[in-house]
Amino acid sequence: MNVLILGSGGREHAFAWKIAQSPLCDSLFVAPGNAGTATVATNIPISYNDFDSVATAVLENSIELVIVGPEEPLVNGIVDYFENRPDLAKIKIIGPNAAGAELEGSKDFSKQFMQKYNIPTSSSRTFTAETLESGLEYIENHPLPIVLKADGLAAGKGVIIAEKKADAEVAFKEMLVDGKFGSAGNKVVIEQFLKGIELSVFVLCDGENYKILPEAKDYKRIGENDTGLNTGGMGAVSPVAFADANFLRKVEEKVVKPTLYGLKSEGIKYVGFIFIGLMNIKGEPYVIEYNVRMGDPETEVVLPRIQSDFLILLAATAKGTLQDIEMTISPQVAVTTVLVSGGYPGDYEKGKVISGNDKLEDVFLFHAGTTFNANTEVVTNGGRVMVLTGVANSLENAVRKSQRAAQAIQFEGKYFRHDIGMDLIRYNS
Ligand code: AMP
Repeated sequence: MNVLILGSGGREHAFAWKIAQSPLCDSLFVAPGNAGTATVATNIPISYNDFDSVATAVLENSIELVIVGPEEPLVNGIVDYFENRPDLAKIKIIGPNAAGAELEGSKDFSKQFMQKYNIPTSSSRTFTAETLESGLEYIENHPLPIVLKADGLAAGKGVIIAEKKADAEVAFKEMLVDGKFGSAGNKVVIEQFLKGIELSVFVLCDGENYKILPEAKDYKRIGENDTGLNTGGMGAVSPVAFADANFLRKVEEKVVKPTLYGLKSEGIKYVGFIFIGLMNIKGEPYVIEYNVRMGDPETEVVLPRIQSDFLILLAATAKGTLQDIEMTISPQVAVTTVLVSGGYPGDYEKGKVISGNDKLEDVFLFHAGTTFNANTEVVTNGGRVMVLTGVANSLENAVRKSQRAAQAIQFEGKYFRHDIGMDLIRYNS
């Protein structure tokens, strides 16, 4: 099978690394990819948002299966584009159509969906510029903290947790009046703050059947002990100690099954990943958000624990035969630490030469924002640069492997968190 992965992050390198191990894989391509994907696949230098170029690459390379890494092309309808072109209609694609991708593309849609299908989530209301005054009144009467969410995609920056009413009002007006997030902020969801422990559960769906993949916890803030600005993710751990079998059973019964039932009832044939962001509140799951793709860096701890042939799983997903596949999961613990460029998530420089990455032992290295310079050296090319996953029999050892590798890699301005997984070590003891 010839396979194309769309994306350029650590998630896509992890996909490529795992798929390249499959005997089913003939040729593997990543578009646009990074310096890491170039070691296991052929990079194609095109934008995944340019559907015509993607189509040309698919036809030129006789691609049979396309895996869409990021949310943007899904929300913009890449699956519908393939379905509507007769010369591409036979190509299998892992990802939902635009209607399914609304689960991530519109917070308003996803809240209405959860309410309609009795999926536990926080109470909320949606406002527009026309209902600005009643929104301000709603804020006035709302308990603190108040969560405000821009309706559309906002590159992970559209969620504000306001500790003061005045801050909530400013953020609310910035979205609806000043257009801070462009059209993504034309609607704003105001919701109740949920206090609990956060984790993510991933579901692979073939439109009919599903498999629940290993759960993960991620670390979003730039600073240690979860301080400072939000980032794309600074690290992740799988499995998650506080998600015991009983809790995960509740997630399946109260969240996964009603979500899939809801999608079917809405006439949406959902093929692809559903990433469910959850809060565990005293042992009960509440949905914070849906994403319509795998997480990054969660993928880099989830995939190393999947022992089954991942391409067989994906091919069955595309064919609608997931029920025939046995999936085996390693009981080992995976911990990943993300190396970022100095200044991230604010401004940062690119083009810093990376060294030490060729001497690592006993760790999985996934590239994120990397490329080659004119001298074919690997250089930084983004905020998140490299992702290091340690896998071991204990959380302590997995943390140690990941952190040792994070120390060993060098580039000017390198920064990483030293506390990934440490809270869970304390939780265990
Ligand atoms: P989202 O983009 O919806 O995942 O929100 C980003 C982050 O904000 C989440 O991962 C949570 O940490 C936090 N968050 C979002 N909604 C809530 C909520 N209702 N209560 C508490 N924290 C939230």
